Amino acid sequence: MTNDTIPPRSAALLTVAEGEEPARVSPSHNPAPLIDIGINLGHDSYDGDRGAVITRAEDAGVVQMVITGASVEGSQKAIELARSRPGKLFATAGVHPHHATELTADALSALEELARQPEVVAAGECGLDYFRDFSPRPVQQTAFHRQLELAARLRKPVFLHQRDAHSDFLAILREHRHSLIAGVTHCFTGTGHELEAYLELGFHIGITGWICDERRGAHLLPLVRHIPGDRLLLETDGPYLLPRDLHPKPASRRNEPAYLAHIAAAVARARGETKETLAHSSTAAARALFGLPSV
Ligand SMILES: [Zn+2]
Repeated sequence: MTNDTIPPRSAALLTVAEGEEPARVSPSHNPAPLIDIGINLGHDSYDGDRGAVITRAEDAGVVQMVITGASVEGSQKAIELARSRPGKLFATAGVHPHHATELTADALSALEELARQPEVVAAGECGLDYFRDFSPRPVQQTAFHRQLELAARLRKPVFLHQRDAHSDFLAILREHRHSLIAGVTHCFTGTGHELEAYLELGFHIGITGWICDERRGAHLLPLVRHIPGDRLLLETDGPYLLPRDLHPKPASRRNEPAYLAHIAAAVARARGETKETLAHSSTAAARALFGLPSV
């Protein structure tokens, strides 16, 4: 999902740490606590240095993370990671619309078993993605219905994904809303009209580094002011969506949870509030939605 291309090396770039892993921030400067509510930490791009990625996130003030499960196998991996750091890492269990064709009856029972685990704080990610259409739309819709029913049965919030499918997505959500306890529309990149509809249904809104992209995310700057503080959550969606205005950028172009502080700063600026205020409200909102302990 990273659309950024690697810029040509210039003399100026040679003098900075371009291409090196981000330096550790001194923990002594005590950054405001943040929670990354959408991190694909099981992704194989983290296989070589997952421990260091977690440490850099902690040093940048990320006190807890919710690891996205986007397939049955990926959800299992997310749970295993969450078990390795109890109280710090949590998981979701779901099947992304890209993988909707994989959600057979057997897969659905396996998913339900995973979603019951105490480390799993939400059902999903699930929803509709008509941008890529990797699974046929009717199959995506069926998989979405089944996972909303699962979330309702387990009394867990739902972690929602929507791209280029707003009207079908909204219609299905409206059908199930009465039985769902809560949910978040993760990686919100839509219009004011879409935002209003999700807020009206009582959902939380997840904001990523998309907002840092002046080409396609600038419309979000005025919109984030309309999200009540107790409904706004922050996420990196790493390794995807490296904030476009991050300097220097890692040579890998891989996003990671340590960059949540950069995203939080952009969102706070757009809302006309301090980073501390946003950190406090978004952390409290994430804990309330997912039932996370205070650390
Ligand atoms: Zn997503």
